Formats: sequence, C-alpha cells, structure tokens
Amino acid sequence: MYNRRKFIRLSALGIPLLYSTKSIAGALNANTGNQVGSPIVISTWNFGIEANAAAWNVLKNGGRALDAVEQGVWVPESDPQNHSIGLNGYPDRDGKVTLDACIMDEQGNCGSVAALEFIAHPISVARRVMEKTPHVMLVGEGALQFALEQGFEKVNKLNPESEKAWKEWLKTAKYKPVINIENKSFAPKKLPGNQYNHDTIGMLALDSKGNLSGACTTSGMAFKMHGRVGDSPIIGAGLYIDNEVGGATSTGVGEEVIRNVGSFLVVELMRQGYSPEDACKEAVMRIIKRKPETAKEIQVGFLALNKKGEYGAYAIQKGFSYAVCDAADQKLLIKGKSFY
Ligand code: ASP
Repeated sequence: MYNRRKFIRLSALGIPLLYSTKSIAGALNANTGNQVGSPIVISTWNFGIEANAAAWNVLKNGGRALDAVEQGVWVPESDPQNHSIGLNGYPDRDGKVTLDACIMDEQGNCGSVAALEFIAHPISVARRVMEKTPHVMLVGEGALQFALEQGFEKVNKLNPESEKAWKEWLKTAKYKPVINIENKSFAPKKLPGNQYNHDTIGMLALDSKGNLSGACTTSGMAFKMHGRVGDSPIIGAGLYIDNEVGGATSTGVGEEVIRNVGSFLVVELMRQGYSPEDACKEAVMRIIKRKPETAKEIQVGFLALNKKGEYGAYAIQKGFSYAVCDAADQKLLIKGKSFY
C-alpha cells in the first residue's frame, strides 16, 4: 500500500519515484494519451501484432496479464511460417529444434525451460514449472520429462522450410550470428521464405487491475551449437518483471544480453526514474561500451513497459520493430536509430 511518509523519506534521500498514487489519478500516459494504468500489451517484432491481438482478447475482458502473455505468445509458437519461435523454428547445427522460454507474474513468480525439444508450447511448460514445482528452471531431458508428465503432447517433426534452410546452411556451416533483415547489408541471403535467422517474441502486459506480467519464447539462434541456451529463458536477462516498477524483455544476440543482465538492468533503471525508452537505450549503450565491435556486428534490442503503461524500446541496429495494442489502438513501431 502507498505510504506517504515513506514517499517523503525516499524523496528526501533524492531517490526519484516513478509516481505517487495521487499523481496517477487523472494522469495521462505519455505514449498513448490514455488514463495511466489502462490495460496495454506490447511485444517484439512484426509478429507481435497478431500475438498482441490474442493477448488483448484476455485483457479487454478484464483478464489477468499472466494469461494474456501466455495466450499471446502461443500465436507465433504455433505459426508454421515462423522459423524463430516454437517447433517450426530453425534447428540447431545437429538438426534438432531446441526451445527456450520463460514467464513471470506480478508477484515475482517465474518459470523457465531451456533446450526443450518436441513440445509445441514451451511457454506453457514454463508456466507449469512456475506453478507446479518449487523450481524456476528445467532444462533439456528433464524439462521434456516434466512436460510429458504434465500431459503435453510430444511432437516430433522438423518444418520442411526449416529443414531446407538447415541443409543449405550445412554446405558452409559458418558459425556466426548474423544481423537480421532489419539491416539489409547483413541479411542472410539464402534462408527460404525471407525468414529470419533469429528473433524472439518478448511480450509485456499490464491488466485492468494494474498488474504486470511478461513472457519470452524462442527457438534461439539458428544452427546454434546443440545445448546452447540464449538469454530468452533466463530471468533477468531475456525477461524481468517488477510489479512496483515495470517490465522489460530482449531480443537479439543472447550472449550479450546475459553478460549485462539486460532486462533486469532496464527495470532497475526505470526504478531510478528513467523513461522506458531511456532505460532501454542505457542498457544498449552498456553493451556497446563494453564491446564496441557489437555496434557493427550484432543486434540486441530491449522493450520496456512501466507501471503507468508507458513503453519504449531501443536497439543497437536500426529497424527493430515492436507492436503495441491497447483499447484505442493497435500499431507497429520501428526504432530508426542506428549505431552502425
Ligand atoms: N535472443 C535470442 C537468443 O539469443 C535470439 C533472438 O531474439 O534473436 O537465443
């Protein structure tokens, strides 16, 4: 509960507070112009549009943000055209599709799976880890065993387009993450269907009760080493939610996000008073500062939503798109900044 004495004490110490309960009443969201705290869902990349629509079906009926993000990311997880999320994703270099996912709710509960094979909705297995076990993370064989015990179906298939891309890749087997089509000079030339060699869905939602949740799911880097785990299933790296402050999620080369505990950093910066966009920018700049070559060679993008429902994003390379959906609008925004 809001405590005025505590607010005054923290203010006197010079710790900026995002808002007080009083200032929320009647205040407007700087991004949307809606009442502060109105439900909203945001997610990474173009496929976020359809995913947000599914999440919005939950939010608009007064549903919980946790259900919204789970149902939202099911959309790209089951899209046969999507080769960077779910079982239709590109395989690792051994031809196995291994999935990473995590989920976090308004109470700080979280669940995660990494290197999970044969399961169509890794996000739902992550939720079961959160709700049905005393643990946060299950990996590989153990995650699969748990999923099967929980009644998830085992699906053993390789999407034909993904198989074709993998076979093409095997001809050179060049092991280097490449920046996606958002930067055309680095676009992978031979992936069928103009598909991406990586791209995760990270989704953040605020519900009508003012609670935040997030989900993040991916098949990871195409043609990665078997057993490689990226940032996406790692709480604090690929996703972080603090219901007092906001949430953040990431996409791009996961190793750099893990090294900087990126999503946690973005949320902590928002706690210090940064806007969502400025927090994402600072997290990107830390990566570039530590490793200047990243500015030329890789993509990392962050997306953030604060408790008021204000959002922002920032990426190393230009062209990072993200989708926003609330009662008034459904849109796709693209960050035009480039450090290259
Ligand atoms: N972050 C993901 C990973 O490193 C990939 C991506 O979002 O592009 O596995």
